[in-house]
Amino acid sequence: MTQNETRPERGLTVHYPCKYVPAELLAGFGAGCWPCTHEAESFDRADELAHPNLCGYGKSLLAHALDPSVHALVLTSCCDVMRRVYDIVRSEGSVDFLWMLDLPHLRGPREVARFRGELMRLAEAFGAWSGREFSLDAALASFDPPVPRTDERVTLLGAHAPLSLVDTCRDELSLHVENGTCTGFRQVASPPSTLARAPRPDCHACGDENEASGLDRFLDWYADALLNQTPCMRMDDVAARGALIDAPGQRGVIYHTMKFCDYYGFEYLEASRTSEVPMLKIETDGTRQSAGQLSTRLKAFDETLRGMAETGGDAHAHADGPVYVLGVDSGSTSTDAVIVDGDGAIVASVIVPTGAKASAGARRAIEEVLGKAGLTDADLTLRVATGYGRGAIDGMDSTITEITCHARGAHFLAPGARTIIDIGGQDSKVIHLDEAGGVTNFVMNDKCAAGTGRFLEATARAMELSLDEFCRVGLEWKHDVKISSMCTVFAESEVVSLVADDTPVADIVHGLDMSVAGKTASLAKRVKAEPPYLMTGGVAQNVGVVRALEDVLGAPVTTHEDSQLCGAIGAALLGLESLG
Ligand code: SF4
Ligand code: SF4
Repeated sequence: MTQNETRPERGLTVHYPCKYVPAELLAGFGAGCWPCTHEAESFDRADELAHPNLCGYGKSLLAHALDPSVHALVLTSCCDVMRRVYDIVRSEGSVDFLWMLDLPHLRGPREVARFRGELMRLAEAFGAWSGREFSLDAALASFDPPVPRTDERVTLLGAHAPLSLVDTCRDELSLHVENGTCTGFRQVASPPSTLARAPRPDCHACGDENEASGLDRFLDWYADALLNQTPCMRMDDVAARGALIDAPGQRGVIYHTMKFCDYYGFEYLEASRTSEVPMLKIETDGTRQSAGQLSTRLKAFDETLRGMAETGGDAHAHADGPVYVLGVDSGSTSTDAVIVDGDGAIVASVIVPTGAKASAGARRAIEEVLGKAGLTDADLTLRVATGYGRGAIDGMDSTITEITCHARGAHFLAPGARTIIDIGGQDSKVIHLDEAGGVTNFVMNDKCAAGTGRFLEATARAMELSLDEFCRVGLEWKHDVKISSMCTVFAESEVVSLVADDTPVADIVHGLDMSVAGKTASLAKRVKAEPPYLMTGGVAQNVGVVRALEDVLGAPVTTHEDSQLCGAIGAALLGLESLG
């Protein structure tokens, strides 16, 4: 606890990062409370003062606390990061009133009594620092009326969600997104009406009997109410947490984990194992994540919840005259275009290199596929784009995420497939399907080249092998070689050392294939993948990786001659089906 002599010049605002901070108690002293939910513009100052491994929220909180406009900050003993932030802010001396509230893990009578004592100490210190007295009326007037939960909703759970994350979720999802993270789900019960009236009969201890007894009576009730909010993951009441996830009306959960925070990963694993509610796991480092990456996952989750991929029935002709639907899949390495007719049959398809600009690659692909089909743009009934560059393509009628399009395309190519493993040039994804081809779950690795085509290309280059040689040579391996590094840069130097040690090339390539397979299998585990497996994307051409995946998954992995076109086929078919 520290209290500087300086008084706040402006309104009395207490900043807080946790829903267990007693906002209503502080309101009794005339203070407003402000949740710390903004990401810092820069982590430079936080990196100077703290270890770089401090979680992103801790860094943002630190940057927030060091802002000259912050005069009062109340933290809770949630985790080591909070304690570290407290220590740094105290040693910097930048905040006039700084308090660490000791928070129990349990909610039994003994813990409530101890917590009441903590709240009383805070009240005394805050009263002394601010020079204000507690007003029971002001405290009681500050309670927010209970907010009824929306009937059909998606809840954002897990680590502290910065405002931009909440906004992005709300922008991309059609259902209402409720923020169930630390400061987003603050719901203290309403005080009983008797609290305002009844004096405490046994309180004669202090001079100002009304005010003192008012604070005592308030805390007698409030400590229990504050602690008995819907528990966060820091509390030991696991059953009540489960109820939050499985509550009626819950259509989906977006589970946010934070880089350098170990707490939420365990809860996510347990929840995804035990709950049937569709869940999307996202990880951020507390900064504004690449909007494109996050947006694709959220949009795909939205499409999954809305059941877009469940339109897995046979495509059918419609309306008068010929129908032609164009699907374009704009990937990092290639752009694929497919035209289907009104019966859902493929009329023409092309695969062209994307090149430096997604829009130019798409233009080339569209010109070529139209030429091949003997059609012009005017003959097209609908144009649908997918893939990471989908937003950059001119003249499209709609866009659908690659997750939904791959699912539809895979169901067309291999109707029985239950898991799609797609490894492209820059990302990899595993999509689990139901029997009708609807997406039940998916996971993407789009943060680094590890386990993708780019990783294999870079290591092939380091070994001076063409891609063709690289795909074949690994099948002739004799001895297991373990490539321990998944980072492309480190793996390249590992490969160079193995070559220098005269390790046979076939063994090294097999080691690389196995490392990609291992990384993909761990993604597959997260979506409860099951056979039959279909592999799509450019790396499906690499028979060494396909065999390695079969080894790791313990089941056959099939490919299809058109598997590279899977996304574009799916886009065209979903477009066709949308025509009704
Ligand atoms: S995890 Fe719980 S205790 Fe920790 S900051 Fe969030 S709400 Fe508070
Ligand atoms: S994200 Fe994790 S480590 Fe960071 S403050 Fe929250 S609970 Fe603590």
